Amino acid sequence: METKAPYKRILLKLSGEMLGGEGGIGIDGDALEQIASEIKSLHSCNVQVAIVIGGGNIWRGASAVKWDMDRTAADYMGMLATVINAMALQNILESKFDVYTRVMSAIHMQELVEPYIKRKAVKHLEKGRIVIFAGGTGNPFFTTDTAASLRAREISADVIFKATKVDGIYDSDPTKNSKAKKFDELSYLETVSKGLKIMDATALTLCMESDIPILVFKMENGSLKKAFSGTQTGTIVR
Ligand code: UDP
Repeated sequence: METKAPYKRILLKLSGEMLGGEGGIGIDGDALEQIASEIKSLHSCNVQVAIVIGGGNIWRGASAVKWDMDRTAADYMGMLATVINAMALQNILESKFDVYTRVMSAIHMQELVEPYIKRKAVKHLEKGRIVIFAGGTGNPFFTTDTAASLRAREISADVIFKATKVDGIYDSDPTKNSKAKKFDELSYLETVSKGLKIMDATALTLCMESDIPILVFKMENGSLKKAFSGTQTGTIVR
């Protein structure tokens, strides 16, 4: 079936806290199921879906600095956390939602997940499998947002969907400032120069260089499908 949609291949960035439910910590079964159901409905739109999953619900490298832990080790622990999340997501997508998936990790763990190989990832996507990228970029001192930009560029994704707990990008934290103003559209450079903490500068620069738009929106019932059809409100960075 031909799709009239503007996107053929989408890179969905999910932060780890999305799997942690209200508290954003650990993995919450209901939150996991809700997210998997949204992903299934996006995939049903006849579009290729790749996902980069974060690990902040389990571990963030930067937080270990206060214990004097070596940052490199702490960051690798964060990358391992993303593999745990990826496996949880894969499991629920396959067992409850009947979609074929592959987890590909930047850090090789052949007993658990496939190693990341770009050409294989594209083959999986072309076969209709959802590909979950784990292990971030495979390097310390980076974030999974940068991994999202990197993978989006490598697989030639048409767009990055950054699904968050907030409905777009604001000039200040809307949970703390009732007068915070939401942007409908921003350029990559404006996002960096205004210091808007939606993605780090490395991730934004990579998207800018490859002209990949980023749609930031709130993950809720039906939002992924709406984002696909162009009716979801949020902020577009391009
Ligand atoms: N991380 C890393 N390199 C990467 C991606 C992630 O070192 O390429 C580590 C880093 O310690 C980070 C943790 O993994 O704090 C979890 O990733 P991130 O904070 O991006 O997850 P999210 O906020 O999206 O849940």
